[in-house]
Amino acid sequence: MKILVINCGSSSLKYQLIDMTTEQALASGLVERIGIEGSRIKHEKEGMDKVVIESPMKDHKIALNFVLDALKDEKHGVIKDINEIEAVGHRVVHAGEKYSESVLINDEVLKALKECIELAPLHNPANIMGIEAMQELLPNAPMVAVFDTAFHQTMPKSEYIYAIDYKYYENYSVRRYGMHGTSHRYVSQRAAEMLNVDLKDVKMITCHLGNGSSIAAIDHGKVIATSMGFTPLEGLAMGTRCGDIDPAIITYLMKKENLTVEQMDKVMNKESGVLGISGISSDFRDIENAAAEGNERAALALKIFDDRVKKYIGAYTALLGGVDVILFTAGVGENSAANRENIMRGLEYLGVDFDKEANNVRGKEAFISKRSSKVKVLVVPTNEELMIAKDTMALSK
Ligand code: ADP
Repeated sequence: MKILVINCGSSSLKYQLIDMTTEQALASGLVERIGIEGSRIKHEKEGMDKVVIESPMKDHKIALNFVLDALKDEKHGVIKDINEIEAVGHRVVHAGEKYSESVLINDEVLKALKECIELAPLHNPANIMGIEAMQELLPNAPMVAVFDTAFHQTMPKSEYIYAIDYKYYENYSVRRYGMHGTSHRYVSQRAAEMLNVDLKDVKMITCHLGNGSSIAAIDHGKVIATSMGFTPLEGLAMGTRCGDIDPAIITYLMKKENLTVEQMDKVMNKESGVLGISGISSDFRDIENAAAEGNERAALALKIFDDRVKKYIGAYTALLGGVDVILFTAGVGENSAANRENIMRGLEYLGVDFDKEANNVRGKEAFISKRSSKVKVLVVPTNEELMIAKDTMALSK
């Protein structure tokens, strides 16, 4: 069975065609600058060089048509006919409180997604455009929506209600939702497989550390707490996002600098995090290099980032009543041995016996705690596309 996985942003989209017999991607790619000048598609057939096709693409439907053409192209394609695509899985950012699992898309689901636009105004409209365009292009293929928020829906009310007037939850659905759910779900399942244990038997903390970062406490397979909140701004310090700050800073700075709501939003989402602290870059590689050359603010940014992760691990261990597995994933979590070592330093009291040598890995599955360690520490590369494809297969049979 071949499944197309689509992840639509407002002006870009990522895709992967996965062969479910091998669970390998046959081809993947990225369309950029949809609806603006300079639209292009970067398409890659497994084992071949990337090709870049530039052509005006005024909307998502035209862009997805280019994707289908690339997939069946004589030279760079991997299928002969688009009907070989048996189902389509769509990444959808926000399902509000409506869905706690992936769903087969029908009119009712589309209506529910439209009702969630207010909660994810930057993301859900693009996801919906992608679904509607694919429905026109492949009218016979079942489509499945896989939500970023779904895996976190098991959180108890005491974790998702904020300490503000309850009427804001009742009137506007202001509560913690959490993000990166598909990634946390995939890596937790993979870790259980690597450890040869049942997810139902372990307490796990999953650290998704990338440009956007979040951490989740998973008790016997169910999320009981996660660091992102009403939006992806809360929690850890990130590439450009501030994560947790004293909320009073917001009104204080708005007054001091005469900032509009949009300007303050930009400060917190685009100008903060390790970029804001270091003044250098949002990319951890640049920050690590600058810190190695003696740049103090770069070193401070890394220390703040790592310590925040460590604090959440402590908090979540307390909530879980102990921890059996801690794992790292995403850009920084998979690739940065230095960040992992700094985060794990001093956690011996929890039962972590960290293996510095084994930690010297990049981008592949590995155990980075010693064999005798009570708490197992792992690196597990995430694969949200495969998780989406698996759900799509299960629901479209
Ligand atoms: P997102 O999906 O949130 O955009 P990723 O999970 O792809 O982010 O992570 C991207 C980040 O991973 C980059 O910004 C970079 O800082 C970091 N990264 C990638 N490779 C390394 C590395 N070798 N060392 C440190 N950081 C790295």
